[in-house]
Amino acid sequence: MTQRKVRVRFAPSPTGALHIGGVRTALYNYLFARQHGGEFIFRIEDTDSSRFVPGAEEYILESFRWLGIPFDEGVSFGGDHGPYRQSERREIYKEYVRQLLDGGKAYYAFDTPEELESKRKEVQNFQYDASTRGMMRNSLSLPEAEVERLLSGGAQYVVRFKVEPGEDVHVDDMIRGDVVINSSILDDKVLYKSADELPTYHLANIVDDHLMEVTHVIRGEEWLPSAPLHVLLYRAFGWADTMPKFAHLPLLLKPDGKGKLSKRDGDRLGFPVFPLEWHDPKTGEVSSGYRESGYLPEAVLNFLALLGWNPGTDQEIMSLDEMVRLFDITKCSKAGAKFDYVKGLWFNREYILKKDNMELAPAFDKILRQNGIEAPMERVAAVVGMMKMKKINFIKELWPLCDFFFIAPETYDREDKFVRKNWTGTAAADMAELAALLEGLDDFSVEGQKAAVDRWAEETGRKPWNPWRVALVGTGKGPDMYELSAFLGKEETLRRMRKAIDILK
Ligand code: GLU
Repeated sequence: MTQRKVRVRFAPSPTGALHIGGVRTALYNYLFARQHGGEFIFRIEDTDSSRFVPGAEEYILESFRWLGIPFDEGVSFGGDHGPYRQSERREIYKEYVRQLLDGGKAYYAFDTPEELESKRKEVQNFQYDASTRGMMRNSLSLPEAEVERLLSGGAQYVVRFKVEPGEDVHVDDMIRGDVVINSSILDDKVLYKSADELPTYHLANIVDDHLMEVTHVIRGEEWLPSAPLHVLLYRAFGWADTMPKFAHLPLLLKPDGKGKLSKRDGDRLGFPVFPLEWHDPKTGEVSSGYRESGYLPEAVLNFLALLGWNPGTDQEIMSLDEMVRLFDITKCSKAGAKFDYVKGLWFNREYILKKDNMELAPAFDKILRQNGIEAPMERVAAVVGMMKMKKINFIKELWPLCDFFFIAPETYDREDKFVRKNWTGTAAADMAELAALLEGLDDFSVEGQKAAVDRWAEETGRKPWNPWRVALVGTGKGPDMYELSAFLGKEETLRRMRKAIDILK
């Protein structure tokens, strides 16, 4: 068999917001495609019209745009294996359903929902399979003429897959190895419904993976139980030779306790489970998103990459390119990965420190505007640069730490511990002297001030820095004094100092 070009896909159903676990699935597919020089497809699996939610597809696309994960082909990206939206591929699926029926691999079933319901009541643990299909109404149990009559009379039917019992089915999984399931535990899954003339997930998924030449199926662990059926379907179609390799990713688990991560855990502990804020069109409920909460997309991707995989070293911070280089699907864990959202905060902090201040500035500018402040972007960036090392998780946390850059202290709180301790006997006189010194400086840069003030302080034995901070900030916070005064400029620095002398005396 010739080596096929690696092609993987992310195939969400547009049933609501994209869960953060889905983002990790897409990320792993992307890393795998990139590192193999392959292609990454975006397919929409919307054959279950009852679960369709308007806006979900656009939401998913917007999420990946924000995260910076590009697709090579698919819905909205084009490509020559389209259409990529399953609801636009009805005619294709019909042809393949017919192929299975003609080959005796599938059959018509006419049982009504009521009939199925009463069978379930009658037979304990009822399953539609080789042991029960004989007592149901289908093209295997009914006389041929009756089947003809039903079909030509327009009776509603489904097409079921005919699973042969008693066979060990092997799923070759890149993470889990050889997963073996006996076909006797599988039921005759519905592949197609005449009522809406649409295939079910299983059929559409297999047909599309085949036609789109998908080589590797990387998806969440919740799909592992479907995998044996998928293997049997590939074989029934005669496509065993080009069957994709599977990788079922570990579940994302609750940060605390047992069980899988749910939206309720996020609500309870205060972290988003969706990439973007989601407005549920049915309930009107608004759910928080990583973007709106102030996470950087790079931080989210880095955090997610390490949920279920690690490079085998202590390295935690890695760019997308490094992830592409280091990622190894076979080294993913089989056991679920705890969703340690506190670690997510740490990643965001680290990425804020790494990121260029000018790129961070717009986010802080937005908050400044909300507080009625307009400043040139270079000055906003300068403040971010001076203050971001103060252990902030989010840019929005900067505001209470650095309002004084933009707003001069109006009054001075004598009860403030820092003011009381540092504005003592000689403070006013010291500040007057310092102000005179600064006024005479030509070079008001950090270095220029530092040289002059340090010399003066040494010669006179003065310690002006804390009272100076009281004058410029009003309390004991902020960056290095020279950085602050250089930012404020000579005029504003002197104005604040004189005002403090005046008020505090
Ligand atoms: N439509 C499925 C989903 O919503 C795709 C599962 C698969 O990748 O096979 O996740």
